[in-house]
Amino acid sequence: MKTLLPTSTAGSLPKPVWLAQPETLWSPWKLTDRELTEGKQDALRLSLQEQQQAGIDIVSDGEQTRQHFVTTFIEHLNGVDFENRKTVRIRDRYDASVPTVFAPISRSKSVFVEDAKFLRQQTDQPIKWALPGPMTMVDTLYDDHYKSRKKLAWEFAKALNEEAKELEAAGVDIIQFDEPAFNVFFEDVNEWGIACLERAIEGLQCETAVHICYGYGIKANTDWKKSLGTEWRQYEAVFPKLQKSSIDIISLECHNSQVPIELLELICGKKVMVGAIDVATDLVETPEEVAATLRQALKYVDADKLYPCTNCGMAPLSRDVARGKLSALQAGAAIVRRELSA
Ligand SMILES: [Zn+2]
Repeated sequence: MKTLLPTSTAGSLPKPVWLAQPETLWSPWKLTDRELTEGKQDALRLSLQEQQQAGIDIVSDGEQTRQHFVTTFIEHLNGVDFENRKTVRIRDRYDASVPTVFAPISRSKSVFVEDAKFLRQQTDQPIKWALPGPMTMVDTLYDDHYKSRKKLAWEFAKALNEEAKELEAAGVDIIQFDEPAFNVFFEDVNEWGIACLERAIEGLQCETAVHICYGYGIKANTDWKKSLGTEWRQYEAVFPKLQKSSIDIISLECHNSQVPIELLELICGKKVMVGAIDVATDLVETPEEVAATLRQALKYVDADKLYPCTNCGMAPLSRDVARGKLSALQAGAAIVRRELSA
């Protein structure tokens, strides 16, 4: 990556109103069969174009072909029963009806590889592809087979690794694993979470990232954040081990969060995707606000390792707001780029 401070998003972007109900998670598709296949591709094109118009440097599919960042991947695996659902507590925060693991996990077909090839055909820009992380997948299921979070995560890591290798072959430049669960289950992260992540990236030549955030801007998450006090030190528990891992990039929530910025010191040497856009508010940041967050991060991250980004996905926002935030991110990065080259 030659551009200084290359911008990207954490992942999801709003879907067009004709494809799925806007501003909703797990929104059902409005099309079926062939229309749905075509509709998803058209939405991916639109999402790419919106990123390009805003000047985003590392583009993505905006997660237009998936209903949810975890469930869609799991739906394609063997061993999971989507009919037999159980209610579980997700990340110790809210209850959700989730599928059941009833047999060994395996991946007999690719999940996103065709979508990634399609995106690759549309652009020569670097592309980033998000996959759920093994620990976060475990946290979104009821396990009636392995009866061990660690064992189930390891099986998911193997399936993710198969998918990641095919995504790399399809021309993806950065593969990102979304692990919001890393902000909750610290002991498990250090005991087996990071090991599973290493298994998921085994043998990859492309760059790899892990995204650890405080979640989408939905009520369960914003209520949880209010309970975290004035200093959010969750990252402190997992950074030391992540710093020693072979993950190349760490994607974090920074803007409007109570994360003490000096915690970035703990991942010294890693590339950092610094969240400079708050996804939990419709207020569009000014470029100057974005620049201020980036300047804070620059105290602890070398300029050639800093990647301006969003705090999390923007799927639950309106398209107008998301477009505004993409432009603000790019404009804020441009301010700091100018300062650095002066
Ligand atoms: Zn996130």
